[in-house]
Amino acid sequence: QKQVVPFQEGDASMIALLGGKGANLAEMTRAGLPVPPGFTITTEACLAFFEKGNRLSDSLLEQVEASLNQLEKQKNQTFGDADNPLLVSVRSGSVSSMPGMMDTILNLGLNDKTVRGLAALTNNEKFAYDCYRRLLQMFGSVVLGIESGHFESLLHRMKEKEGVHQDQDVTANGWKELIEAYKACILSKTGRAFPQNVYEQLKLAIEAVFKSWNNTRAQIYRKLNRIPDEQGTAVNVQSMVFGNMGENSGTGVVFTRNPSTGEHIFFGEYLMNAQGEDVVAGIRTPLVISALQEEMPAIYEQLLDASKQLEKHYKDMQDIEFTVENNKLYLLQTRSGKRNAQAALKIAVDLVREGVLTKQDAVSRIEVLHLDQLLHRGIDEAAATDVLALGLPASPGAAVGQLVFEADTAEEWVRAGRAVILARTETTPEDIHGVIAAEGVFTSRGGMTSHAAVVARGMGKPCVCGCEEVRIVPEEKRMFVRNRLLEEGEWVTLDGATGRVIAGAMPLLEARMTEELLIMLKWADEIRTLKVFANADNPHDAGIARQLGAEGIGLCRTEHMFFSPARLPVVQRMILAEDKEARLKALAQLLPMQQSDFEGIFEQMDGLPVTIRLLDPPLHEFLPNLDELQKRHAQLTYEGEGSIKEREEVASLLRKVQALHEANPMLGQRGCRLGIVYPEIYDMQIEAIFRAASTCIDAGVRVHPEIMIPLVGHANELKILRELVDFVAQQVLGKDKLRECPYQVGTMIEVPRAALTARQIAAHADFFSFGTNDLTQMTFGYSRDDAEGKFLTHYVNNKLLPHNPFQVLDTEGVGQLIELAVNVGRLVKPSLKTGICGEHGGDRESILFCHRIGLDYVSCSPYRIPLARIAAAQAFL
Ligand code: ADP
Ligand code: MG
Ligand code: MG
Repeated sequence: QKQVVPFQEGDASMIALLGGKGANLAEMTRAGLPVPPGFTITTEACLAFFEKGNRLSDSLLEQVEASLNQLEKQKNQTFGDADNPLLVSVRSGSVSSMPGMMDTILNLGLNDKTVRGLAALTNNEKFAYDCYRRLLQMFGSVVLGIESGHFESLLHRMKEKEGVHQDQDVTANGWKELIEAYKACILSKTGRAFPQNVYEQLKLAIEAVFKSWNNTRAQIYRKLNRIPDEQGTAVNVQSMVFGNMGENSGTGVVFTRNPSTGEHIFFGEYLMNAQGEDVVAGIRTPLVISALQEEMPAIYEQLLDASKQLEKHYKDMQDIEFTVENNKLYLLQTRSGKRNAQAALKIAVDLVREGVLTKQDAVSRIEVLHLDQLLHRGIDEAAATDVLALGLPASPGAAVGQLVFEADTAEEWVRAGRAVILARTETTPEDIHGVIAAEGVFTSRGGMTSHAAVVARGMGKPCVCGCEEVRIVPEEKRMFVRNRLLEEGEWVTLDGATGRVIAGAMPLLEARMTEELLIMLKWADEIRTLKVFANADNPHDAGIARQLGAEGIGLCRTEHMFFSPARLPVVQRMILAEDKEARLKALAQLLPMQQSDFEGIFEQMDGLPVTIRLLDPPLHEFLPNLDELQKRHAQLTYEGEGSIKEREEVASLLRKVQALHEANPMLGQRGCRLGIVYPEIYDMQIEAIFRAASTCIDAGVRVHPEIMIPLVGHANELKILRELVDFVAQQVLGKDKLRECPYQVGTMIEVPRAALTARQIAAHADFFSFGTNDLTQMTFGYSRDDAEGKFLTHYVNNKLLPHNPFQVLDTEGVGQLIELAVNVGRLVKPSLKTGICGEHGGDRESILFCHRIGLDYVSCSPYRIPLARIAAAQAFL
């Protein structure tokens, strides 16, 4: 079986086999671009390696050797040859892009002999030994697992000894001495000498790259980005080109557009006389790409042309790695560039305008998860007076938090409920857990393409890079800005859009819709057939929802109106009433309050449907806590506190609360069960709805109330309550006005039996709204309030379940019930309107499912509406 594919034989479609890097290197080779030749070891070989208990098979090693021989011929060099040595890089390359998460080793094939050959061949001793020390360092840390700090401090000492600040100023002799120190370090840390046998080097490097698939930071990154563990990584073995050969050489990264703003400008950074990770690791702060235009105009033009060609070819913004060796340009990688949501939108909209993409392509490309970022917060400019430092605006958005200087501390503090800003000299992939935990990140070194910037943008976290005035001393838990000192725990505010680090906790401003988002949403609306409604419980939320594009309210939870301090006592009086008369009195007080809420909501939603759910939760949710009441009662009774009157009041309250207490309230007297036993409660709510409708109609508002009966499990429940609605509607509105108020009555399907008996229930319903929170709870038999803390997290972590079913709809089980109910319900009543209103209404995968089974709408919280509109369009495509 073929497990090794030379670049000239692959192409971009083979990404699953060759990984992203390998497939694109092959595609670029095909397109005639200057790519150093090499070959890719497939992801299948990686999986086979894992299966064999982390061992490379003999057949794979043979194929690698054969491909290497071919490469030797292409390059006219020989691997391990003392006079004319071939050097290679061994590069990881996963299927889904995981920038910086896995390992790469450069300059492989150097040893004590070949380094001399390289020096003689290039007539550049300093260069050759620089390559060798880099190999020792990378091989030592990546392959042999020695902490890179050991190498760094040896390097630091060498530079001090030579009295230089920059790596490229170290002399050849300095490198030679450092190489001996590195070799001694490797020997003492591992008990074995650095392998002089170049084939041994290659074999160990391939193994190390395969194994790096399972290193901690790669695992965290995969989890965060939902990349399957089963993918494995490919390995690319590529002949080296050298950006560290002197002043006519260099290396850099360019984006075909600005990844922070999406602006159509050539964007990037480079360093002269540097190799590999020097740019992205932020070791020196790089130059902006426009400087290359002056330094090497011909190379700049060639790079620009190649970039345009690649962008056109891939129809997307590209992130391109390049190296210049002695005035000759090489391309080392291209991929779709990571970008933040705002840039993603702008780029997609621009590509449509430039005729590169269709609207459909553009919409289907939007990552809906990232849309959250778009509704970014900003800084209240008036308050931002105490600017500590100005760095590069690496990832937009504003963040407030307490300063911490270490990733572990960030994680700990956040677990303890604090908001933190992570400040580092530069970040490395080892800091990823800290970046995830922090509200925002800033670094004192590194550019727009440094690790911190790339990772933060991907996560939509505000990030500021390269604040050169800041000196961070993690060991002392403090940092210095000019002559100012800031300690761990002090509050700071980051503005990723302008690159400012500001002292103190600034007030943040909420986000607004950008022009590009509005355009994209308009395109999405043209495409989608699934409607998007909002869950909104009051006029304010309804207003926001409408602004964000809601086409109606899918769920208005009336009980949320009961919790305000002014109303709760009346609600309690209603619940605790000794008889019906007393209850009616309290209800009469509640009626105008509910009515005015409904009026406000109807006005906001003028002309659109408003689905109002009648009272749902168990009554004790509105009452004082039983335990506390019992304690107070005991104090009053046995310890003789308080007055007689108070004692009696508490005793009576306790009796009632005890009487209402349920062992399992989620399955108790709630929803329509309550409405049937105490019809006067629903009666009042229905009356409030139609009175509000009546006032609104008089004011010229078009109202479409849809009254939703919760927790129905038997058709008779709905039948009775529907009759109640129709009766009250008649009474309140009278015949004539009724005609101006086209209302509907439907039910939430959230008890499994309701789904199973949809045929009977549909006979009494105008619509079904799937309450997927309760439906999930009851279908799985998982208590929503307990499961997550107990077993559910364990289940998901151990992959017993693919997702938390309360976040992503369980299409296999719960989804089946929904599909059944929809199909059967429509058979009985073709006009039946269907939708979902659980948390799932704002989840992309769940939305795709809702479209697939033909629901009419999804309903979600207001801020998720843009996401749902895009996802609904993607579902159609
Ligand atoms: P990552 O996936 O972390 O970006 P890469 O495999 O792209 O790792 O390697 C990192 C850097 O190493 C590249 O950006 C490039 O500068 C350098 N590099 C890799 N292969 C070569 C090569 N054959 N010649 C010169 N430089 C290389
Ligand atoms: Mg790379
Ligand atoms: Mg419910």
